Amino acid sequence: MSRMKSERGPSCHETASAVTRGHDQASHRPWTRRAFAVAVVCGALGARFRTLRALGPADEWLAIVLGSIQDGGLPQAGCYTQRCDRARNDPHYVASLGIVNPDSGSAWLVDATPDLIRQMDLIPGAAFRARASRRRPFEGILLTHAHIGHYLGLALLGREGLGIEPTPCYCSALMAEFLANNGPWSLMVEEGRLDLRVLEPERPTLLADDLSVTALQVPHRGEYSDTLGFVFEGPRRSLLYLPDIDRWDQWDRRVEDVVAGVDIALLDSTFYSAAELSGRDQSEVPHPLIIDTMERLGSLARSDRSIVLTHLNSSNPVLDPDGPEREAVLAAGFEVARAGQIHAL
Ligand SMILES: [Zn+2]
Ligand SMILES: [Zn+2]
Repeated sequence: MSRMKSERGPSCHETASAVTRGHDQASHRPWTRRAFAVAVVCGALGARFRTLRALGPADEWLAIVLGSIQDGGLPQAGCYTQRCDRARNDPHYVASLGIVNPDSGSAWLVDATPDLIRQMDLIPGAAFRARASRRRPFEGILLTHAHIGHYLGLALLGREGLGIEPTPCYCSALMAEFLANNGPWSLMVEEGRLDLRVLEPERPTLLADDLSVTALQVPHRGEYSDTLGFVFEGPRRSLLYLPDIDRWDQWDRRVEDVVAGVDIALLDSTFYSAAELSGRDQSEVPHPLIIDTMERLGSLARSDRSIVLTHLNSSNPVLDPDGPEREAVLAAGFEVARAGQIHAL
């Protein structure tokens, strides 16, 4: 995995000092313009599309965070806590990622959430909108697993919604079997809208000349499917997307090693601590706790890579903008995912 770590330019949460650090070794282009543009875009969270073109040349792949919340959403159904009420006026979206080239309009969707309609609005560029109007918005869709936050959005691309033209849909063999054999997904397969393609774990698949994905199998409760994480490799940087896993120590590899092998890691951060699970058995909803993740990955978070917390449950205090828990994770060098955040690959 170490080959996936690369020399990199500045990302969203790096400081302006990066501007003076030198040249991007992969391209030998000065960083200055990129660093400035990244700072502009990241300062204006919510992805102001006018400034995106300034990010880089035509071959630039951007990973755009399309959502950062656990499957149930924020606000969650029937939730009237202060946190959920605040979110009624400040929408958050369920965890998802877009891998996008704004100039060409090429876009890959990573997980299809119930918030898909508004999430597609976050994908920049007229070229993408033109593609969408031709009912073929995505080069392909990649799915991690069959829990509601990760695939229900496919339905919005079916006959009653956009009615997409044939689109490759990459997932595990079990996930493909599930989609092919259960309605309403099976109708999308029969109609030829979803062209199912099985990703073999550990084997890199080329998505474009300068973009590949490698699926990693992860332990996660599997009522309908098994679960994958993805490592994307762009021309300059690699990104791990791992929104769901039961426990770090149930994985057949050390998360420290996997994260050390990439430049950017978006990780399952459903719960901050066991304290927020009062009245609910954690074995029903196993996920790593942020306090444990901070302990395991603290030194990596203080290095030059981005470790981004995502898939936050509505009970997670890190969602409170001024709360001590959020302050603690930021002080420890971690980042908190939010729709609109951009990482250049
Ligand atoms: Zn999930
Ligand atoms: Zn899940």
